[in-house]
Amino acid sequence: MDSSKFVFSFDEADPSDLILFGGKGAGLAELVAEGCPVPPGFIISTAACREFVRAGALPEALLSQIETYIGLLEDAASSRFRGAGELPEGSAPLLVSVRSGAPVSMPGMMDTVLNLGINPERAAALAEASGSVRFAAEVMIRFHRMYSEIVLGADGDDIAEQGSDFLAGADPDGAGSSLFERLWSVMSDAEIAEVGAAVPVDPMDQVRGAIAAVFRSWNTRRAVTYRRLNGIADSLGTAVVVQAMVFGNLGSPSGSGVAFTRNPTTGAPGLYGEYLEGGQGEEVVAGTRTPEPLAEAAQRLPSLFEDFERMALELERRRKDVLDLEFTVERGRLYLLQVRSAKRTPSASVRIAADLMAEGVASPTEALSAVTPSQIRDVERPRFAPAAVADARAAGRLLVRGIAASVGHAHGIAVLDPDRAEAIAAEGENVILLRETTSPFDLHGMIASTGIVTARGGATSHAAVVARALGRPAVVGCSEFGIDPDGRSFTIGSSRFAEGTSLSVDGAAGEVFEGILPLSQPAASNTGLSEVLKVARRAAGDCRILGLCTTPEQVSETRARGADGVAIRLIDLLVASGAIERLARELTAQRHRGRVDLSPLEAVLSDLLLPMFRAAGGTPIVVRSLDLIDGDAGEFLDLESLIVAHPGVGLPVGFGELIRLQIAAVAQAAGQNRAMSVPYFVVRHIADPRELAMVKELAGEQASRQGTGSVEVGALVSTPLGVEKAVDLARSSRVLWFDSHRLMVSSSGYPSVVFTSAEPLDDYLRSNRLAQDPRLGRDEWQQRVFAALTAVRVGVAGCQIGVRMARSHSPELLRAYYRAGARIFVTEPEDLRVAILELGKAALQQASDGEAFAAAPAGP
Ligand code: ADP
Ligand code: MG
Repeated sequence: MDSSKFVFSFDEADPSDLILFGGKGAGLAELVAEGCPVPPGFIISTAACREFVRAGALPEALLSQIETYIGLLEDAASSRFRGAGELPEGSAPLLVSVRSGAPVSMPGMMDTVLNLGINPERAAALAEASGSVRFAAEVMIRFHRMYSEIVLGADGDDIAEQGSDFLAGADPDGAGSSLFERLWSVMSDAEIAEVGAAVPVDPMDQVRGAIAAVFRSWNTRRAVTYRRLNGIADSLGTAVVVQAMVFGNLGSPSGSGVAFTRNPTTGAPGLYGEYLEGGQGEEVVAGTRTPEPLAEAAQRLPSLFEDFERMALELERRRKDVLDLEFTVERGRLYLLQVRSAKRTPSASVRIAADLMAEGVASPTEALSAVTPSQIRDVERPRFAPAAVADARAAGRLLVRGIAASVGHAHGIAVLDPDRAEAIAAEGENVILLRETTSPFDLHGMIASTGIVTARGGATSHAAVVARALGRPAVVGCSEFGIDPDGRSFTIGSSRFAEGTSLSVDGAAGEVFEGILPLSQPAASNTGLSEVLKVARRAAGDCRILGLCTTPEQVSETRARGADGVAIRLIDLLVASGAIERLARELTAQRHRGRVDLSPLEAVLSDLLLPMFRAAGGTPIVVRSLDLIDGDAGEFLDLESLIVAHPGVGLPVGFGELIRLQIAAVAQAAGQNRAMSVPYFVVRHIADPRELAMVKELAGEQASRQGTGSVEVGALVSTPLGVEKAVDLARSSRVLWFDSHRLMVSSSGYPSVVFTSAEPLDDYLRSNRLAQDPRLGRDEWQQRVFAALTAVRVGVAGCQIGVRMARSHSPELLRAYYRAGARIFVTEPEDLRVAILELGKAALQQASDGEAFAAAPAGP
């Protein structure tokens, strides 16, 4: 394309080129291509903006092209924009809007100036053509308000108020054309007084001034900051639309409205929106006057709205997306002014994706890609309404910020003692347990509460570990809290609160609010969601997804959410039941006695496992071995004495007795539950086939014991060495497991806690100290991991690959593991449905890549 062509009419522009024409311009081009009625106009491309930013002025070529295209507009409207003097017989003066439209929608930029082209002389012509002096005067005032504010930087409301005051005191109908002269100079004087410049009189100067202002606003501080925070390139630039004005406030029937092709709150099908009789578009958008529902207006203007609905639904079918349309009716004629993808609530989004698929508009791939992980999370778990959080914050009810230790939202009354927490919760009250720190003696209170807050401790403190194991929202390390359990009160600074004060806890943001923030009720059965997930599940039919569980209730819940099986970490069972304390005591007591007898632990573990196995029914189960040195156990044990007493404990199978008794416990519980499938017991850090052989030997010995079930054993690869040896390990495994979290930790060497909550790394990335987010799996080390998976898949027939996904892993990482060949996935219960969705996307993508590959002609 000619690189100096900056201006395009709507039918010259390519509707799919958002980068060049911006969202608004491309949308208008699409409307025109579809034959919808659109006021004539043209688009100035983002290339012109880039040139403006570079040179600091509007390029010469652009100025002459604007002249040309204004000329075409004049022809289309059979009217005139440039020059003074008589207008063609019977025509109203042409007025235009100048509208900004970047490739991505961007608050903080200058938006739109309406009614350019008005000046005293042309106002008189407009009054004559429209038959209303008042109308022409209002057009002038509105123009001054917008132009003076957006282009000159004045207080537009104040300028407009001065104009309106003048108009109220004048006699519009008796004043003749000098009224417009005087109105103009009242506002000009006010502008000069405020900012030292006035709105230009010449229409072409007005247009050039507005275009330059749009381009300048690309680099305002707010716009630059917004782009940096949202990863939008500064080099994009914005496009500008110049378009003939139509008036919803001229004659009757006239008006303006906004319409959605489906209800954006619920997703229900059918045109939905608002219409303001006799109003201009921005009044609807700004909410300055109250519009009526579209359905009511449609009763007055049935044929117009029938046409409109037909067009809107047609556009929706083409775009395969819910649309948001701005429109104006001028004297009974409909004009479309904007089309874009509609913003919608998460539950509407899910329902719409499912409906579009059911209606045959969208393919499964398109429907799944329209649903995001965060929408699924929003739909399925109770959370605070964002507006309520904003209100609480504005009202100063955010009490403290601490460490986000366990995700989820909860509210209840603050209770400072675990016994009281248990008693009060038993009466049916929601309780937030508020403690200095927690210890094993608090466990019953933690189980009874809906949320947990502590004043001290970090992301691996007892409170944090237990809260995660129990699935309770928690904020820890809120050091501003002074807590007095005996006095039944707590303080923040000089404010004192009584026990029983209502609190709301956001365990993802690490915030504690005073008062009850209402929780959304997630639809128990969102039919849209189950449809979408069914399609995803079918697409990823060869995957098995296991949910990580700590209690039998969680097992049932997780199965109801669509898990194919259950994963259990023994450490979680010990922590959530309090049995870890006993283990810690035994281990150190034995040190003094100089002998090792862990046999009681075997019974403890099998008792904890049995109800879990029962709840799991016949579904697959995988149990992860205890790792006493590395991980959550560390909080509970005296590591130093542990290592002195059992020097082998730090090696994968160096403390053989500990491995043996775990296998025995699994076998024991399995033996009492004949219905179940053979459980899989996996040992972390194994990197040598000989280690695996030893674990198998232990399992073999178990199998010969009376009354026990069989156990399959395997390696959970979690070290670089294990990755190197993956193929060797796979040769003697039915499933080879990978620990994605550990593998990620080992590449950076950061402590594991860095990856358990999002903020520290997010902040670090935002401050630009890393080129790449290590959680996305794009780095070289991760590529080695994926290569190892592929080598196993390709080289070792009969060995499947399982991955334990880290808590709140990125969807991208999950899909990369799928592509590399993993087919069994272990996720946290809250990540389960997201994993189903993302695996469905990955499977469909792989299938279509495969087809494209098969369809491609063979190379030379
Ligand atoms: P935004 O980006 O804020 O949506 P728009 O450019 O869409 O800004 O314009 C703001 C309002 O002005 C909208 O209601 C739009 O419909 C209306 N508008 C813009 N151009 C015209 C026009 N040529 N005729 C009538 N109304 C217009
Ligand atoms: Mg708009």
